[in-house]
Amino acid sequence: MSGGGLCPEPALAQPADVRVLTLRVVAEEMYRARPGWEAELQRTVKTVSDIYERSFQIRFQIQDVMPWTIGPAVPLQTIMTRLHREMAVGAADVLVGFAAERCEGLHYGVAHLFGRVAMVQSGCLDTAILSHTGPEVVLSHEIAHLFGAFHPGPSGAGSVMRYGPADRFDSQNARIVRMMRARDFTTGVRGVDEAMRQAWSAIHAEGHASDEPNPLAGAIANAGAALAAEGKMPEAEALIREAAAVDPSAARVHSMLGLLLSGQAPAGGRERASCATCSGSTGARRAPTSGSG
Ligand SMILES: [Zn+2]
Repeated sequence: MSGGGLCPEPALAQPADVRVLTLRVVAEEMYRARPGWEAELQRTVKTVSDIYERSFQIRFQIQDVMPWTIGPAVPLQTIMTRLHREMAVGAADVLVGFAAERCEGLHYGVAHLFGRVAMVQSGCLDTAILSHTGPEVVLSHEIAHLFGAFHPGPSGAGSVMRYGPADRFDSQNARIVRMMRARDFTTGVRGVDEAMRQAWSAIHAEGHASDEPNPLAGAIANAGAALAAEGKMPEAEALIREAAAVDPSAARVHSMLGLLLSGQAPAGGRERASCATCSGSTGARRAPTSGSG
């Protein structure tokens, strides 16, 4: 466990080097019911965009804001599944859902490592009174997951990935986001090539939340499960073997491989099995073994 200290604020980026991350934003009906929601949404995205531009030369650009209706009392897992199914990313790099008053326990946000979809909760008791669960923190945290950031170990305490404010990144995750800043979001985890996987794994091995399965192995295995669900068994097997290579100790990956070799499609697509449901304030909290992770 080393190399996890917090980074000082980096120098201003050169404008020519800025990577623009385009966002399709989805706002559900309870978020839209609050007065001034559009200005608040724009403010939240701008705040985090400014942080990412200073830190990583990544600027967010809202491509469009789409209304969405979820209905009353829908569980968070169902909301995420439906968000993937009902709302297309379109031409944007990523899709971010904003919801209000739909928190479940300590789940303030959701994103899948190297995925394209994130969700930000607001308007809950915690997010209203605890500054480190505010929408800027959650958005900063979840977007970092889309770039491959993980929950660091104790040396990363105070980072946005573990209890910290929106503009503090631990050195491990800062290196990962910088390494991945040009990534093509249409390629998913399969676009993370072998050299990047090795670099990611070396950084992850410096220290990470001890109670979570390796999220890169999980993301690759989920990509394999998705292929298996399409009947592409040889490709699925190859990916699940890649996941096992990333984390040879991952019990879930081995059981998926066992199922596949016995001729069955491993259960669990990306929504069911992916890491991680998480929050800026509880970065080290255990992800459920089922559900959105
Ligand atoms: Zn998280």
